[in-house]
Amino acid sequence: MPVPLIFEKSREVQIGVSLPALDVPEQPLGKLLPQDQIRPQGPELPQLSEVDVVRHFVALSVMNYHVDKGMYPLGSCTMKYNPKVNENVAKLPGFTDIHPLQPVSSVQGALRLMHELAGYLAEIGGFDAVTLQPSAGAQGELTGLMLIRAYHESRGNPRAEVVIPDSAHGTNPASVTISGYKPIQVCSGRDGRVDLEALRAVLNEQTAALMLTNPNTLGLFESQVQEIAKMVHQVGALMYMDGANLNALLGIVRPGDMGIDVMHFNLHKTFSTPHGGGGPGSGPVGVKKELAPFLPRPSVVLRDGTLVLEDGGPQSIGRVHAFYGNFGVMVKAYTYIRMMGAQGLRQVSEGAVINANYLLARLREAYELPYPGPAMHEFVLSGDRQKAKGVRTLDIAKRLLDLGFHAPTVYFPLIVHEALMIEPTETESKQTLDAFAEAMLQIAREAEENPELLQRAPQTTPVSRLDEARAARMGNICYRPGAA
Ligand SMILES: *Cc1c(COP(=O)(O)O)cnc(C)c1O
Repeated sequence: MPVPLIFEKSREVQIGVSLPALDVPEQPLGKLLPQDQIRPQGPELPQLSEVDVVRHFVALSVMNYHVDKGMYPLGSCTMKYNPKVNENVAKLPGFTDIHPLQPVSSVQGALRLMHELAGYLAEIGGFDAVTLQPSAGAQGELTGLMLIRAYHESRGNPRAEVVIPDSAHGTNPASVTISGYKPIQVCSGRDGRVDLEALRAVLNEQTAALMLTNPNTLGLFESQVQEIAKMVHQVGALMYMDGANLNALLGIVRPGDMGIDVMHFNLHKTFSTPHGGGGPGSGPVGVKKELAPFLPRPSVVLRDGTLVLEDGGPQSIGRVHAFYGNFGVMVKAYTYIRMMGAQGLRQVSEGAVINANYLLARLREAYELPYPGPAMHEFVLSGDRQKAKGVRTLDIAKRLLDLGFHAPTVYFPLIVHEALMIEPTETESKQTLDAFAEAMLQIAREAEENPELLQRAPQTTPVSRLDEARAARMGNICYRPGAA
C-alpha cells in the first residue's frame, strides 16, 4: 500500500506541540525583525500530531530495503552487514566534536587513528605507504592514475595509454579518461581471465599502466597475475589493481606481493562501513615506495613522539580532498579491523568465498554459468536459458523483490549475456543462503511454467515496475503544495 504524502495527511486542527499560554505582552513580528526578514505568508508546513508524524516516517522507513532488513546480494558491492559497534565508536564525542582546523596538539587521538589505519591497510595490502584522502573507489582510481602519471613524468615521459580488461568496472575507463590517458581494452580469454597473448599485443612503451581487478568482476582469480605483472613491468609500465574485490583476499594473499604497484581499497565495501544511496565512502590508495613521493598532501607523520600533518615533498600531486578525507568512515573501518584482528580478517575472506561457492553449487543446475571455475567471493550467472522462454534477467531481478530479497547486480559485467552477478558476503547464514537459493530455483521453475508472472513482477512492493528511463530523468522532482 502506498503511504500518502505527509502533506495529504495534514489537517488544520492538528498540532504537534502544545505551548504554554503567553504570559508576556504580545509583540508584532514587525517590531522584532527588519521588514525584509519577514515572509509575506507563513511556511506551508503540514499539521499533524506528534504520533502521526512518527508513524508516517516509521511507515516510510520500513518500505526501504537495507542490509539490516535482509540479504543484499548485489555483486561487486560487498553489501555485508555493518556491525553496530562501528557506529558506536564513530559517534563518540571525542570524534564527532572535533574540527579539522583545530591545532594538531588537540587532535592527537584522531591523527593516531588515521596513522594506524593507514599502517593496517599497508600491511593488509602489502604496500609501503597509504593515503586516506580519496572519498570513494572511483576517486581512489583517479588518485592512483595521477600518481602513475606523476611517476612517469618524473622519468621524462608521462606515456599515453592505460590497458583495461573488458570485464572491468565502468569506473576504470572513466577514471583513465579523466586522468588524460587513453583507455585500451584487452579482451578476456575463454576462461574469463586476461588473455596473455592479447595483452602482449597491446603493451608498448606508450603504456603507462595496466588496471587489473583481482579477483576480476567474474569472481575469478587472475591466477597469472605474476606473469602479467612481469610483462607490464618489462615495458616500464605500472600495475594498478582495482581493490574493490579485496573481500576475497584478506589475510590470504597481498596484492603488493603479487606485483601490484598501486591499489585502491573500498573501506565501504571490504571494511564494513555502510554504503549505498551515495553516502560517504572512503577509497584509500596504497603504493609501493617508488610512488610514495607523489602521494597527496598532507599526510599524518610521527615526529619525535607527536603526530603532525606534513605537506610532503615537491613531487606530491597535491590535495585530492578537502582536509583529510571522510574521517567518520575511517573510524568505522578502524574499529572493524581492530575488532576482527588478523585471524578474523582471514576468516572474513574464507567465509565470503565459501558462501559464494555454496550458493553457486545450489544454483548452477538451474542457470547458465558461462565462465566456470572456482568462484572467489562472487559469481556471475547468465539468464540466457530463461530468456529463451521470454523471461529477461530484469524480470528475474524484479520477481526476487516479490520473494523478499534484494536483487543481485544485473547486466554487469558486460561480457556476460543477461548477467546476474551474485555476492552473498560472509555475513549471511546458511539458512539465509538456502532461502535465497530456494527463491532463485522457484523463479527458474516459474520461467518455464508461467513466464507472464515474471514479466509482471513485482506485485508486492510499494510501486510495481517502473519506467526506468522516466525514473532516471525524474531524479530531482520536488513536492509543491497545491501543484497537480
Ligand atoms: C564499487 C567498485 C568500484 C567503484 O567504487 P566506488 O567506491 O563506488 O566509487 C570500482 N571497481 C569495482 C570492481 C567496484 O566493485
